[in-house]
Amino acid sequence: MNNRLYGHLVFELSVPGRKGYSLPKNHFGTYEIPQELCRQEDAALPECDELTVVRHYTNLSNNNFGVDTGFYPLGSCTMKYNPKINEEMAALPQFQNLHPQQPASTVKGALALMSLLEQSLCELTGLAHFTFKPYAGAHGELTGLMTIDNYHRSRGDVQRKKVIVPDSAHGTNPASAAVCGLEIVEVKSQSDGTVDLDDLQRICSQCGDAIAAMMMTNPNTLGLFETHIPEIAKLIHDCGGLMYYDGANLNPMLGVCRPGDMGFDVMHINLHKTFSTPHGGGGPGAGPVGVREGLQQFFPEVSPYHGNFGVMMRAYAYILSLGREHVKEVGPLATLNANYIKERLKDVYELPIDTTCCHEFVFDGLKDKSTGVTTMDVAKRLLDYGYHAPTIYFPLLFHESLMIEPTENESRETLDGFIAVMRQIAEEAKTNPELVKSAPHNTPIGRVDDVLAAKHPITTYKQMVNDNN
Ligand SMILES: *Cc1c(COP(=O)(O)O)cnc(C)c1O
Repeated sequence: MNNRLYGHLVFELSVPGRKGYSLPKNHFGTYEIPQELCRQEDAALPECDELTVVRHYTNLSNNNFGVDTGFYPLGSCTMKYNPKINEEMAALPQFQNLHPQQPASTVKGALALMSLLEQSLCELTGLAHFTFKPYAGAHGELTGLMTIDNYHRSRGDVQRKKVIVPDSAHGTNPASAAVCGLEIVEVKSQSDGTVDLDDLQRICSQCGDAIAAMMMTNPNTLGLFETHIPEIAKLIHDCGGLMYYDGANLNPMLGVCRPGDMGFDVMHINLHKTFSTPHGGGGPGAGPVGVREGLQQFFPEVSPYHGNFGVMMRAYAYILSLGREHVKEVGPLATLNANYIKERLKDVYELPIDTTCCHEFVFDGLKDKSTGVTTMDVAKRLLDYGYHAPTIYFPLLFHESLMIEPTENESRETLDGFIAVMRQIAEEAKTNPELVKSAPHNTPIGRVDDVLAAKHPITTYKQMVNDNN
């Protein structure tokens, strides 16, 4: 990596007059572009030969971390392996080159695929209809809440504006409710991490006919299965509210149990998490929303076409390649992997809620607090060992949250390797805390000042700024 190309911008590699292309001979003659349409100065583009460009971008791509390069236990995000057959299917030219404004008669295959995917999702969730329009999980939440709002309005129940959200909820839940113009009421968690039924009862008797919905995710953000859903659903339904299921965390439930059977009325699914599409960094997603029979006429228009079709293709390929019998293995394996890591580390990392978890769990930093080594330090040090850091400082229920989700695909050897490194870091925290506190040491860029980076982001390259001004 120690060469002229490494760590530079392509602009710095530019040499005046260098070219990486040659144009074919002009057989068409010339046409003068009107002067007022021409640039006054040449664009500040880098001038490089082909090999320099190839090396530059290949080296950059080698700095990238992904599920295909290493273990990525990012809690709540379900960074699971994306089988390559999905990519092959999504790349079929017959599907890839469709245009959303083609006549329906020419896209019957694509429509059939969406219909088959809808049937599969209905079977997996116990709901009756899905819309594929939303582009992401949070977009699905908004779509689902708008559906609920439309339903209440259609009944003249315009005062139903309160949405109950557990204090452990994913941040997008209250955010979506707010964007939808609804009011958030927070329900407390009990010390075991599940929803406090007494607090919910109090809210229901206080708010009654102002309740539009309750949003829940199950397993919840702590990776715990909420066992009181039927009671909770009854409380909310008796008030006239609807139950919303945040299905971004459907991974441990696949083929094992169904939100529709638990009493949920509306839900979204993150196809890009549970149904294996590469995600992160803002890549394409799909947050289809499912509803109970009778609610489908309240779906709002949230996008002009049918959502991200490539993600649907990957999801359908994934579902077909597992089939009914193997889809049932996803949840138990994800659960086994998470519990295996948890049990092997809980003597050195603080486990605030010590029960069997589902697909993920949360540590509250290192057990030995005397070293001064924080969750942030542990996360940075993990990078030195070639692992992506877990989700940190979320959920907000603990000060030093470290949220680990290994997913079902990882081998025993990978899990053992990760466990050994986590234990090594706990040991380093005692014997050489400075080493951990100043990590990472082996990455192309060392420790960044997170606050400065967020408050004063530098999004353009200085030279370009100077050139353009
Ligand atoms: C990821 C996630 C979301 C949001 O999904 P996006 O596709 O990132 O918008 C919502 N809820 C939970 C529980 C999640 O894990």
